[in-house]
Amino acid sequence: MQVTEVIKEAQNAGKTKFSFELLPPLKGDGTEGIFAAIDPLMEFDPAYVNVTYHREDVKYVEHADGTLEKRVVRRRPGTVGIAAAIMMRYGVDVVPHIICGGLSKYDIEDALIDMDFLGIHNVLALRGDNRRGEHTFSAHPEGHAHACDLVRQIAGMNSGVFVDGEVEKCHHSRFCVGVAGYPEKHAESPNAETDLKFLKEKVNAGAEYIVTQMCFDNRKMFDFIDRCRAAGISIPIVPGIKPFSTKAQLTMLPQIFHVDLPQELVSEVEKCRDNKQVRQVGVEWAIMQSRELKAAGLPMIHFYTMGKTDNMYKIAKEIF
Ligand code: FAD
Repeated sequence: MQVTEVIKEAQNAGKTKFSFELLPPLKGDGTEGIFAAIDPLMEFDPAYVNVTYHREDVKYVEHADGTLEKRVVRRRPGTVGIAAAIMMRYGVDVVPHIICGGLSKYDIEDALIDMDFLGIHNVLALRGDNRRGEHTFSAHPEGHAHACDLVRQIAGMNSGVFVDGEVEKCHHSRFCVGVAGYPEKHAESPNAETDLKFLKEKVNAGAEYIVTQMCFDNRKMFDFIDRCRAAGISIPIVPGIKPFSTKAQLTMLPQIFHVDLPQELVSEVEKCRDNKQVRQVGVEWAIMQSRELKAAGLPMIHFYTMGKTDNMYKIAKEIF
C-alpha cells in the first residue's frame, strides 16, 4: 500500500499508527541484526518501515612513511535490497530513502527501476547531507542540487518520462513520494519562512506527504503543522520522534540535527547516572510526546530508531 493510503485508512478508523526508520547493515554484515531489531516490533503492526540511504564517505589512511591517502568508502550500501528483504520477510510496506548526494540522475533512475520491479511503491526523497569534510552540499555533476528536483524526477518517471526522454511503451511506476520537513527549520535556511517556501516547492513538484525531522517539543511540532497549513500545504504531515538514548546526545543531536532540547528533558538526562537510565528517560519522553500527538488526532507517528529497538518496543507497548 502507498503511505498516503495507509495514513488515510488510519485517519478514517480514528487510529494512530506508527512507522520506524532503520539503517542498512554495515558493509560486510548480514541481515541478522536488522531482522533482530524488527522482530519484536511486528506484534504492534507497524504501518511501514523506512530504510535510510547513505552516500559515500571519505576515509584517510596513514601510511608508514607518514603520508595520508584519501579513500572513498561506502559503509552502508544496499538500501533497496534490504528494504525488499524486509518487505518479503514480514509482508510489511517499506519506504526506502533516496538521496541526491553522490548520485547522478541515471543512478537514481536505476534505483527507482529496481524498486519498481521489486514491488516497492513508496520512496522518501531527500537531498542528503554534505560529504564529510565539505562545508556545503555539492551536487553530482549529472545529479540534483535540491530535493524538489529529485521529486520532479520521480513524478516524471511516474508519468513515463525517463532521464533520456520518454519511452514508447510504459507501464508507469506509481511511487508515492514523501519528503522531509523541519519544525525547527533546516540548518541552511535563512529563516523559517524561506524554509517553508522550499517545502512548498517540494509539494508542488509532486510530494504526497511530509515526514518531519526529529523534534522533542510538541509545541514546535504543532506550530509547524499550523504554519504549513496556513501556507497552503495540505498533504499529510507525519511527526518524527527520536527516543533520546545517551548522555552524549545532549550535545550531539543539536550539533548534527540542529534541534533544540527542552530544558525539562535536559534536566532529567543530567540527573541520570548511566545511559541505561538515560534510555528510560528517553522512553518516557517519547511516550509523553506520542500520547499528545495521538490525542491531537494525528494518524501516523514516525520513530527514529538508529537501528536499536528495545526502547521502541516499550513505547509501542504503551501507545500502539
Ligand atoms: P532540500 O529540501 O533540498 O533542502 C535543503 C536546503 O536547501 C534547505 O535549507 C532548503 O530550504 C533549501 N532549498 C530547498 N530547495 C531549494 C531551492 N530550490 N533553491 C534554494 N534553496 C533550496 N539524509 C541522508 O543522507 N539519508 C537519509 O536516508 C536521510 N533520511 C532523512 C529522513 C528524514 C525524515 C529527514 C528529516 C532527514 C533525512 N536525511 C537523510 C537528512 C537530509 O538529507 C538532510 O536534512 C539534508 O540536509 C536536507 O535534505 P532535504 O531533502 O530536506 O533537502
